[in-house]
Amino acid sequence: MDFNLCNLSQIQDLMRIFKLSFRKEFGQNFLTDEDVVRTIAQVCAEKDQDTILEIGPGIGTLTRFLCERYPEVVAVEIDKSLIPVLRYTLNDFRNVTIVEGDILKLNLEELLASSFQRGPVSVCANLPYYITTPILMELLESRIPFSKITVMVQKEVAQRICAPVGGKDCGAITAVVHYFGKAELLFDVPADRFVPAPKVDSSVMQITLHKEKPVQPRDEAFFFEVIKGAFGQRRKTLPNALSLHFPSFDKDRIPGILASMGLDERIRGERLTLEQFCTLSDLLLEHFGNGKQA
Ligand code: SAM
Repeated sequence: MDFNLCNLSQIQDLMRIFKLSFRKEFGQNFLTDEDVVRTIAQVCAEKDQDTILEIGPGIGTLTRFLCERYPEVVAVEIDKSLIPVLRYTLNDFRNVTIVEGDILKLNLEELLASSFQRGPVSVCANLPYYITTPILMELLESRIPFSKITVMVQKEVAQRICAPVGGKDCGAITAVVHYFGKAELLFDVPADRFVPAPKVDSSVMQITLHKEKPVQPRDEAFFFEVIKGAFGQRRKTLPNALSLHFPSFDKDRIPGILASMGLDERIRGERLTLEQFCTLSDLLLEHFGNGKQA
């Protein structure tokens, strides 16, 4: 069938026929700009090679473009009332699997096992704003060897994630994402390209996962905790922020540890590079343990 799912009146017809309304609690803002949809589908992976995991297909707008370009698409949608719509709008494709479920609760390894046997798998999504960070963290920390993760998120979130580590805009999420991959901001998408229009603009960003991590902390979970602690209190110096996050650490010994790395005790967490976070977490581990057993 000839669908144009970016067309407002087609979207409204579908919503009426299937008796649907846009569900704010699921972050439903559907894309209406065909150029944007086509471009996301083009840049998200290697044509004719990758399987695509799409998170939140909505009514299938981006999914149709993905199905045309890639050998296999697995589309996970939480809103069960959208499943019949997806079966209808994707009816002419044999290379799509529609899965009803919450991306944060599914066993992705199991879901994608046969896809990985066939070749590379990449992720593509216009993410619901309300759970951008948990979804990204889940994908990265799952250790599933995705090739690329291409997502549309709130513009400010994309800017923060793609900022350089050690620069003034760096946050905990910046450092953690850069540990897993190279993060790039691709392009901005104004709010009026969605229905309903969100209150904020969006950006498409892409994470290309490292085959080998840039640093090898002795204890990865503790390394993430140190990053979290360093950014927990942005206006505080690093020794203050760390001792608040790890109450069992002897605060007076932290400046000495920083000095051994050539760092001033008044430094703030956002100035550290990934290498410095790694050295710091190894040294803190050596001096104090992981802060849990005290
Ligand atoms: N891909 C469509 C588009 O670009 O027009 C819809 C994008 S809309 C911003 C987000 C979609 O994610 C909605 O369809 C929503 O129901 C779905 N969603 C929200 N939370 C989800 C979750 N935890 N797991 C899977 N899908 C989710």
